[in-house]
Amino acid sequence: MNCIFCKIIKKEISSNIEYEDDQLMVFQDIHPKAPVHLLIVPKVHIDNLDQVGEDHKELLGELVWQASQLAKEKGINQKGYKLVMNCGREGGQTVDHLHLHLVGGKNVAGVL
Ligand code: 5GP
Ligand code: ZN
Repeated sequence: MNCIFCKIIKKEISSNIEYEDDQLMVFQDIHPKAPVHLLIVPKVHIDNLDQVGEDHKELLGELVWQASQLAKEKGINQKGYKLVMNCGREGGQTVDHLHLHLVGGKNVAGVL
């Protein structure tokens, strides 16, 4: 499959990896919209939220949990941050591999 995020996960394409475990990979967005702009990505290829099933419930929880931990590590938790998950073309999704944006480090009220 010609998926850019799968290639990043397989390390065929380089990225700035911030966190990795057996389920998730977190790397910096190539076009950051804020001082902190991380993409939290499941290693398994799922197109988007429209393609998840019951068996993905735990994984979805893991994405949000990891975001909360990374926000603490980045020191943006107290001032605040934003999580965004786009789904489908009208939702603004441009890469068809499920991912959660974590943005912060400035006022991100109007960002994403
Ligand atoms: P979406 O619009 O699908 O919610 O978000 C896709 C994000 O992936 C965009 O913010 C875009 O900048 C980022 N992106 C696209 N291609 C690459 C890439 O090759 N490497 C990295 N690190 N980010 C990418
Ligand atoms: Zn993929």
